[in-house]
Amino acid sequence: MIWENNKECISREDLEQLQLERLQSTIYRVGTHVPFYRKKFNELKLEYDKISSLDDLRRLPFTLKQDLRDNYPYGLFAVPLREVVRVHSSSGTTGMATVVGYSQNDIKTWSNLVARILCAAGVTHDDVIQIAFGYGLFTGGFGLHYGAERLGASVIPISAGNTKRQIQIMQDFKTTALVCTPSYALKMADVMMDMGINPHGLSLRYGLFGAEPWSESMRREINERLGIRATDNYGLSEVMGPGVAGECQECNGLHINEDHFLVEVIDPETLEPVEPGEIGELVITTLTKEAFPVIRYRTRDLTRLLPDSCPCGRTFKKMSRILGRTDDMLIIKGVNVFPTQIEAILFEIEGTEPHYNLVVEREHNEDKVTVMVEVVESIFFDAMKKQRALIDMIRKRLASELGIGVDVRLVEEKTLERFEGKGNRVIDKREL
Ligand SMILES: [Zn+2]
Repeated sequence: MIWENNKECISREDLEQLQLERLQSTIYRVGTHVPFYRKKFNELKLEYDKISSLDDLRRLPFTLKQDLRDNYPYGLFAVPLREVVRVHSSSGTTGMATVVGYSQNDIKTWSNLVARILCAAGVTHDDVIQIAFGYGLFTGGFGLHYGAERLGASVIPISAGNTKRQIQIMQDFKTTALVCTPSYALKMADVMMDMGINPHGLSLRYGLFGAEPWSESMRREINERLGIRATDNYGLSEVMGPGVAGECQECNGLHINEDHFLVEVIDPETLEPVEPGEIGELVITTLTKEAFPVIRYRTRDLTRLLPDSCPCGRTFKKMSRILGRTDDMLIIKGVNVFPTQIEAILFEIEGTEPHYNLVVEREHNEDKVTVMVEVVESIFFDAMKKQRALIDMIRKRLASELGIGVDVRLVEEKTLERFEGKGNRVIDKREL
């Protein structure tokens, strides 16, 4: 089912016209109401009533997280505070908060876009949705909550934490859809096992996961262990919160709500657009936000736009799952390399463990990369010939994906250091 057929299946031509009109009015809005943008436009000598095509987007300035911090708390709002009905805030890793606001219309739009994403994932008004995101200044809980109500589903606003109680409620209230982070879904599966509960005996059918990067193999594990269909969705509070993009039931990339968000993928070093389909930093311009519009917001999230049209019928472009953060990017032999690319390949190769290290050295003025890969015991003690074949295969796959040659070394299971959460798997010995 498609929540808004006339919008989500719009022709590309009509969409681009709509995007241009909305871009023009957004630029006018921020140029007249937000001193930060007015100053930037003036510096660039940008006559903002002369934006006549979507390509003109590239003439506009970027907005950084630091700009939000510098204008803390309300400096980037485009409406007076009396028109703001909701405020959310994110603390970020460095602790300095950023603040975002919503008008009455913004909340309506937000709810509707989240309803689209729930619907795309297969959820309907007949479902019972358990929202295990934190409710509060973080946009996850309230974003999904309003979207689920808009859809007409039955919402259980349980919020985060207390896993045993979550599972008890899931059993008693016959939850059919779970909303949380993918890692929390796996934790629930573990706790169910400890409690002697078989997840396949529950009513659970759907999982809508977001708010952290995850992998295809993690999806498989969640699907198998919980007996559900897991879909990915994406959003960030600086742009709106959840509802920016989400997967349909093809489970192969996230449709971007392009009638409300204009996206670009850029090289984080040169700030130029990458070639179509290449990995780069996602940059988002809001097209309909009233209280807190952003122009070319640099998300620091890495993704790629997928070229193919989707069998589901939606015409909105799809992006791949988030592949990492720009902070993780390495430049090796002048090529941008993302550790997550390596991880994705290792996941697909039989016998390798998802534990690896990447060692970068500089020898005779040339970068040298060694990927240390843990392999299962049976392979590690296998004949040299088999090991060589595996090394060759990994090396070829990595070379074709990364565009640079790397060395590969197999190491025994459990020899590489384990990290809690996002580990730093890169050992850069270059003195740059
Ligand atoms: Zn689709």
